[in-house]
Amino acid sequence: MAQMRLDKLLTHLNCGSRKEVQALIRAGRVSVEGQVVRDPAAKLDPETAAVSVDGQVQRYRAQRYYMLNKPAGVITASRDTRHPTVLGLFPENERRGLFAVGRLDKDTEGLLIVTDDGALSHALMSPARHVSKVYEAEIEGEMAKDAVQRFAQGMTLKDGTVCRPAKLEHVPAACGQCVRITLQEGKYHQVKRMVAAAGGVVAHLRRVRLGGLSLDPKLAPGEYRLLREEEVVLLR
Ligand code: URA
Repeated sequence: MAQMRLDKLLTHLNCGSRKEVQALIRAGRVSVEGQVVRDPAAKLDPETAAVSVDGQVQRYRAQRYYMLNKPAGVITASRDTRHPTVLGLFPENERRGLFAVGRLDKDTEGLLIVTDDGALSHALMSPARHVSKVYEAEIEGEMAKDAVQRFAQGMTLKDGTVCRPAKLEHVPAACGQCVRITLQEGKYHQVKRMVAAAGGVVAHLRRVRLGGLSLDPKLAPGEYRLLREEEVVLLR
C-alpha cells in the first residue's frame, strides 16, 4: 500500500482530528515499531507499520466509503421484510458491516454515504457539527412570496419544531418551479415540512451535496462507487 503520513493515518484510525493527533505525536505519545516518532509528517506503510498511541497498538483496517445515488422506492435501512433497502443494492458479499449515514425518505433520491465507519457517520450526523446538506426539489403549488426570507430567518413548523436558518434559492432554468435548499441539520421530513410551511408541496426531492462532497453526476439512480481518498477527507 502507498505510504501515508503518520498524522493522516492516526486520523484515519479515529484517534482524533488532524490537529489533535499532531499534538499527540509532538507530545511523544506515538511510537512506530517501538520507537517514539515526533514528526507528524513521517511516512509509513499503514498496513504493515506497528503504530501505538500511549502504548496501545492501533490496527489499520481499510474502511469502506461508498457514494450511492439512492433511487426512489428503496428505504434507508439495512434490512426490511416488506420494502427493498439501500443495502439491498449492494451484492451480499460486499454488504457486511455497511450502513447508511443518516437517512433519506423512500421517495427521495440522491447522495447517500454508505460505510462501515461508525465514527465518521456519528460525526457527520452530529447536530453540533451543522454539516450542510443541499437538496434540489421540484415544487407544486404556490410558495409564499417571502419564502426565501422565512427560510433564512429559521422557520417554525406547524408542530412547533424550530428550524435553523436555511437557504432557499429558485433555480428557474432546471424546471418550472425548481428550488435548491441548503440545510445545516436533518430533522424528520425537514425539506417537505419547510416547503409545506411556506405553502408548497415537494413533488420530487434529490440530495446533491453533503458537507464538501457533491453527488457524482455520472452515477445513475441505484448506482454507487467507492469514494476516493481525497473525497473521504472532504467528509471529515
Ligand atoms: N427532507 C425531507 O423531507 N426528506 C428527505 O428525504 C430529506 C430531507
